[in-house]
Amino acid sequence: MRVLGFILLLAVMAGAQGVEEVYRERARKIIAAALENEEGMKKLEYLCDRIGHRLSGSEAFLKAVAWSAQQMIEGGLEKVATPKVKIPHWERGQESAEIVAPVRAPLGILGLGMTGGGDVTAEVVGVKSFEELEKLGRAGVEGKIVLFHPPWVSYGVTGAFRRQGPTRAAKLGAKAVLIRSAGIPAANSAHTGTTMFDAGVTPIPAGALTEESLGVLERLVKKGERVVVHYRSEAKILPDADGANVIGEIRGSEKPEEVVVISGHLDSWDVGQGAHDDASGCIAPLEALLLLKKLGLRPKRTIRVVFWANEENGTRGGLAYRDQNKEQLKNHVIAIEMDGGAERPLGLGVTGGGEVALKQMQAIGRLLQPIGAGMVTAGGGGTDIGPIMREGVIGSGVRTVGKRYMEWHHTAADTLDKIEPMEFRKHIAQLAVFAYVLADMEERLGRK
Ligand SMILES: [Zn+2]
Repeated sequence: MRVLGFILLLAVMAGAQGVEEVYRERARKIIAAALENEEGMKKLEYLCDRIGHRLSGSEAFLKAVAWSAQQMIEGGLEKVATPKVKIPHWERGQESAEIVAPVRAPLGILGLGMTGGGDVTAEVVGVKSFEELEKLGRAGVEGKIVLFHPPWVSYGVTGAFRRQGPTRAAKLGAKAVLIRSAGIPAANSAHTGTTMFDAGVTPIPAGALTEESLGVLERLVKKGERVVVHYRSEAKILPDADGANVIGEIRGSEKPEEVVVISGHLDSWDVGQGAHDDASGCIAPLEALLLLKKLGLRPKRTIRVVFWANEENGTRGGLAYRDQNKEQLKNHVIAIEMDGGAERPLGLGVTGGGEVALKQMQAIGRLLQPIGAGMVTAGGGGTDIGPIMREGVIGSGVRTVGKRYMEWHHTAADTLDKIEPMEFRKHIAQLAVFAYVLADMEERLGRK
């Protein structure tokens, strides 16, 4: 019995270490090819410069869908499809704001997604927290413009004022909202993003300020003077528009029904080019797949690339995918999303599959040590894969060094020049190695 136990232990150890040994040579080839990849940057350039930003409901988004499907077909991917999904259609229109008392001075603003239009001239009341807002109550807020100026903490913490500030102020009768940008925008630039109005609350104008304009307003409000702002916005919500996810595959040779998803979202905000957020997150997984094809590496399971529709203001692409693939979700090995920009990749965060999956992912990650990527930690996912993760699919999000992402994302500064080609190529390498090994290894992820 003891001998048998020892043999079993050896077998388990071999299983745990096997991935690295079995795939080392192929991973080396994949990494080398990815670091020489030119096509990915060319595609990014086309998407950013020739199609441009791609807000849900815009003509550019539909153009991007058609172009993406064409890239997948020309690259030889299988089962290329553009399953339809209805997406929200919000339009910004013209917008402007200026201080009209106690001085006249223009304000740098960028309206938030899903806000309403209006022409408001009203006194500004400043609050640094939701507690302060509630304390003011209807008596202190009605008919006014609420300025949320909390200190910058993080996207999660400070972003709460973007997500909930407008609806909470509108409920108390505010005419409009101005907020500190939910980011660290570059000079004279502000950060947009979606906000949500609760059912029954009429959307009001709401915009983020540049740091420079926030500073002026803050100083004036602090003096206790009556500060009046004129805020005009043509923003409007139109009926839902046509949209689509874009999907392509390399079919598995032995278990084609089992699927590894690698993905990013094709829509963007209507400023800048959506280069980091999230053109890079679409093109990197696409190139990863095309690269495996070129190297003649067909895995046992299917690898599917998905360009999601409507991450930014609705997640309709992710929800539609869940509904359209209900029966196949149990065969989804993992869904990986790249939606944190294309700065140097560090690895992946993984949710689901327990210790077994984490260990397996970490073993695969070690194959990426030559490029400093592949570190796998617990916790992570993505907005678009959220709906299928909630149905039990293991989910994973790409992690980067995240040095300057918050200066660019959701701003006019998110343009192609911010993408460093070699860092982007490392993303292709990382996704290609993870996707290939996850789709090819003997045991399915999370199972022993
Ligand atoms: Zn994004």
